[in-house]
Amino acid sequence: MAVTRNSPITVLPGIGKTKAEYYAKMGVRTLGDLLLHYPRAYENRGDVVPLALSRTDGKSATVLTVATEPRVVRLRSHKSFLKFRAFDESGSCEIVYFNQDYLKSQFPIGSVFRFFGKVERKGKSFSMSSPVAEPWAETVALPPLWAVYRMTEGITPKQIARDVAAALELLSESTEEHLPAELRQKRALCTLAFAERNIHRPDSRESLMIARRRLVFDEFFCFSLGAAVTLRREKQTGAPVCHNGDVTGLLRTLPYELTGAQKRAIEEIRRDMARDVPMSRILVGDVGCGKTVCAAAAMLIAVQNGRQAALMAPTEILARQHFADLAPTFASLGISCELLIGATPTATKRKIKAALAAESPENRLQVVIGTHALLSDGVEFAAPGLVVTDEQHRFGARQRALLSEKNTHAHLLVMSATPIPRSLALVLYGDLDISHIDEMPPGRQRVDTFVVDETYRARLCGFIRKQVDEGGQVYVVCPAVEEEPTAPEELTLSQIGEAYLPTEEKPPLKAAVEFSKELQELFPDLSVAFLHGKMKSADKDAVMREFAAGNVHILVSTTVIEVGVNVPNASLMIVENAERFGLSQLHQLRGRVGRGKRKSYCILVAGSGGANVSQSSRDRLEVMRTTYDGYKIAEQDLSQRGPGDFLASASDQAVRQSGGLTFRLADAGEDLTLMTDASADARALLDSDPTLASHPLLAAKIQAMFTLEEGLIS
Ligand code: ADP
Ligand code: MG
Repeated sequence: MAVTRNSPITVLPGIGKTKAEYYAKMGVRTLGDLLLHYPRAYENRGDVVPLALSRTDGKSATVLTVATEPRVVRLRSHKSFLKFRAFDESGSCEIVYFNQDYLKSQFPIGSVFRFFGKVERKGKSFSMSSPVAEPWAETVALPPLWAVYRMTEGITPKQIARDVAAALELLSESTEEHLPAELRQKRALCTLAFAERNIHRPDSRESLMIARRRLVFDEFFCFSLGAAVTLRREKQTGAPVCHNGDVTGLLRTLPYELTGAQKRAIEEIRRDMARDVPMSRILVGDVGCGKTVCAAAAMLIAVQNGRQAALMAPTEILARQHFADLAPTFASLGISCELLIGATPTATKRKIKAALAAESPENRLQVVIGTHALLSDGVEFAAPGLVVTDEQHRFGARQRALLSEKNTHAHLLVMSATPIPRSLALVLYGDLDISHIDEMPPGRQRVDTFVVDETYRARLCGFIRKQVDEGGQVYVVCPAVEEEPTAPEELTLSQIGEAYLPTEEKPPLKAAVEFSKELQELFPDLSVAFLHGKMKSADKDAVMREFAAGNVHILVSTTVIEVGVNVPNASLMIVENAERFGLSQLHQLRGRVGRGKRKSYCILVAGSGGANVSQSSRDRLEVMRTTYDGYKIAEQDLSQRGPGDFLASASDQAVRQSGGLTFRLADAGEDLTLMTDASADARALLDSDPTLASHPLLAAKIQAMFTLEEGLIS
């Protein structure tokens, strides 16, 4: 059978069951996986220096001539070493290899090698132990860079290098190019075969950069394509035309003026809904920018046109909150509105379902607000007009798709709570039209932000006491210490930061469970509650409700808390080990306070429990102290960490993807251009070939990358 990239790595010489199992632990099962296992770094072997100038802090490359005949020295217990001297114009060096007698004949006197290794000095004499030796000739350029791979249990970087080389060799004939030729030409991208060879075994720096550029583009391109395919809704006609939307009645009920950005968003929605092509729009904006009222306007427009509107929230508590906010408004406009959640009594559910399906407009329920319960069997809309989903956090494309599938022709509005840089939004949301609400309502109080360390602990406790004495409530957020059992589709945009974790900063951390106990001991008279990811959602909801009701003074939690919930009385947000969080995530957390009349504070504790904090982390936290604009913070996050990390952790909210896609190569700022180009090209390609029928290789690749249902790509 022919060897392909889908062949198991056991087809490689020397890889048996045991090695294969170690490889499997790092997600490498096939030859293709192995080629995707990119180097962690490259050894700089091309930078040849005279012996005398060799590094004292690491390995150096030197070109030396063999001066003495290699001599084998035998030791007891079957050990031996091989020893000879070699020199250049700056000095002479003793070279030693252990237990490799067979090398004896490879170093004849007078032959020249590039030796790469650590040069030890003793006074004026140099020595190298087991350096890499490559025959040197003026006329043949040796590769300047050598790939090094991540260490993993059971497999050495050297073995990986050897296996990768073998895989490249085996596949060299059969590598098929999945990027269309015109595209490669237009963007000046090398072939896949060249890219794969050179990312692992670069001929030169230039080749490596060319290879990297192609692979980064490729990742962005395939991601964009997958996102577009997953999110694409048929642009068919037949949507319920909702014209003459008039929201002045709604605006009259509001105690405030809309911001310019809200007005723009509502106008965009109004225009979309007046067409017979279903709207697919996402409202993107910072927490508190006022997305709900825009959604309410959209729902009103649907109802004015004799249609029904549904709003789906990811949790019961959020659904309740939306219902509490919106039902009175709708009531005052004479619009019927009900709440449908799992906890709704069966009899009521039955009534709501009947009212949703009612043939006669007089008996028909106009607006329903709920959770996934809206997706359950028996929920049918007699006159579907608009579906709104509030993706405050982790709400899969899947549910959104289900809801709009049920109501194919309905207009769709998605609310996303995180300000995503524009360039990124395009990639993540592909085909959806985007309304950015990039302006906050006036007069918002600023949440004063402080960055402190452990030395501030006693004062911090005093501050907690003061807030509670004054009637406020306190959030304490700790990084999750345990592995969170979060499914891939449950990652939130607000978890964005977690990928940036210099290893030395990891342990120790404030563990949420213990910390809540400590706090309870410190404040025996106060009510301290605790939330973590493994709790059942009903239990989480219950704790959150207690906190919202003011019965809990201090809520300690990991970031999995249902942060979408609005508790206007909360006045202090403390983030422990703040260095562990991404800026956007910190911004989200900070947005949980300052929602009511109380003057509010956010205290970022760096290095809680004695964790090391690097200067760059301190600088990052400093941004939080001085910047309050979520878009600016997201841009900062993006430019520091590059689109790769950002996309990898953000993408699960937008589209479901299976392993494989980690943007391993993409980094800082420059890749933004590649990303934008790639996403534009992906959309253009889909316009011309919506089912990828003429690009079978691409289709297969996308299919494998994303957890796509059968038939999404035909
Ligand atoms: P989010 O975009 O996070 O969903 P909300 O829609 O919940 O934000 O709005 C947050 C708060 O701001 C609500 O209490 C809402 O009444 C208020 N609000 C919305 N728009 C304005 C505005 N233009 N001026 C003043 N307050 C506003
Ligand atoms: Mg909201």
